[in-house]
Amino acid sequence: MAQCRLLLFLAVFFSIFGLLHASAGDADPVYRACVDQCEKTGCVGNKCSQHCNFTSGGSPIDGPWYLQEPLYLRWKQWDCLSDCRYHCMLSREEERKKLGLKPVKYHGKWPFQRVNGIQEPVSVALSALNLAVQFHGWVSFFILVNYKLPFRPNKKPYYEYTGLWHIYAIFSLNSWFWSAVFHSRDVDLTEKLDYSSAVALLGFSLILAVLRVFNVRDEAARVMASAPILAFVTTHILYLNCYQLDYGWNMKVCMSMGMLQLILWAVWAGVTRHPSRWKLWVVVIGGGLATLLELYDFPPYRGFVDAHALWHATTIPLTCLWWSFVRDDSEFRTKTLIKKAK
Ligand SMILES: [Zn+2]
Repeated sequence: MAQCRLLLFLAVFFSIFGLLHASAGDADPVYRACVDQCEKTGCVGNKCSQHCNFTSGGSPIDGPWYLQEPLYLRWKQWDCLSDCRYHCMLSREEERKKLGLKPVKYHGKWPFQRVNGIQEPVSVALSALNLAVQFHGWVSFFILVNYKLPFRPNKKPYYEYTGLWHIYAIFSLNSWFWSAVFHSRDVDLTEKLDYSSAVALLGFSLILAVLRVFNVRDEAARVMASAPILAFVTTHILYLNCYQLDYGWNMKVCMSMGMLQLILWAVWAGVTRHPSRWKLWVVVIGGGLATLLELYDFPPYRGFVDAHALWHATTIPLTCLWWSFVRDDSEFRTKTLIKKAK
């Protein structure tokens, strides 16, 4: 109970902290005046946005009936604000650069250069690449387990973690898909979907780490071990979506879950005689170093490559090695079980 109160207190504390904390860029009065002005006129300097063409009555000037729907208008209004913020940010950053000042964050994000309306093109491309690598890893595992390794007499694979790895693959494909969507357009919905999928993936991979490291094979024991993690992750996702999308708190939750599974794998790699334990070591150390990138936040180089994009780059080779470990593990377990059966 005391722990619950502490958690609740921390949650409330960080949510208040999150509300008070505006980024340096959007607190700047010059930027604010620019956005206000742009929302009225649709122009920043001599650049005018087509999204801000409203009539005095508040409905679009002409166009077919479906463009006059209120939903479309709200979208247009939102797009106008988003475009104004973007162009004001660019013009303000240009001024700041001339004054020799370093870039600052606007609404919690670094000033990125858009390409064809895509907000963070490098992160989108890397997320797509991660998606492809995950898919390739999963397919190669699927082929190995279903077509190359022998089956049990009951026509099921020997490897006891096959189903869990399939679920893991679905969670990670889902997570990388929403990551690509979120980095191309950052709106409330895409942000929530990206954060929720990432939390779900981290939660499931923590369950998987616990089950594999402690070699939990009994169905009832598996349910017992995963239930508390499942409950916590579900609560956290509901908190993010229904109460407050609190970045600081979410970062702490994700870091703790990530670190916990890295430690589990590292300790196991230290004590096990698994033939592919070196792959675990590389993933653990690489994953740990990559996490530093997520913590060490620097402004995007030339408006494109920031720490987060680099972090997405490091996960590509690690994913390849990770699925290679999973394939080795399935072969290793299958051999051991066949030997035992003889
Ligand atoms: Zn990302």
